[in-house]
Amino acid sequence: MKHLLLVLSGPSGVGKGTVVKHLLRDGNYELSVSCTTRAPREGEKEGEAYFFISKERFLNMIESGGLLEYSNHFENYYGTPKKFVEDKLKTSDVILEIEVDGALQAKKSYPDAVLIMLLPPSIEELHSRLKKRHSETEDKIEARMKRMAYEVSKKDEYDYVVINDDLQSTIKEIENIIERERGLK
Ligand code: 5GP
Repeated sequence: MKHLLLVLSGPSGVGKGTVVKHLLRDGNYELSVSCTTRAPREGEKEGEAYFFISKERFLNMIESGGLLEYSNHFENYYGTPKKFVEDKLKTSDVILEIEVDGALQAKKSYPDAVLIMLLPPSIEELHSRLKKRHSETEDKIEARMKRMAYEVSKKDEYDYVVINDDLQSTIKEIENIIERERGLK
């Protein structure tokens, strides 16, 4: 693999989206677009946020080996289209923004993949960030908090753990990791 496959994970609300947006703006990266069976949220565009597909199509993709990794969480399937990513990797570093089970699967298929886990400075801080989003019910926030505990429990299997305390320092830290990994290639 010539280019870097960067896998960024971390609990919902930790700021992965913002970090990715900055990386894409400032660097030469491509973001992978995942397939999901969940419904689009307001403002999410087909082919940008996700490829929104039926469960049947998703299961077909699993069968035919079309996914680099996938997982089923929050009652929906999410997966990375293999060809899409492999094509992008020919010309650029690629970022996957995915959860832990998928990230660890990706590492098995692509041992050179660089796994970075983004964590909040504190759990309380994350809870309040999630509440501020106002897009979810208390039950769903609770489910995400449980999921967070699970994700954090996998942090030692990641290559790097970055605490997202201050956005600019977080981006700098991730850029340093990328530079270092490029140097190792
Ligand atoms: P959301 O529903 O909030 O967009 O995403 C929920 C979770 O699914 C997030 O942790 C996100 O990183 C993860 N996710 C998004 N795309 C993929 C994917 O292709 N594979 C896996 N394994 N997880 C994904």
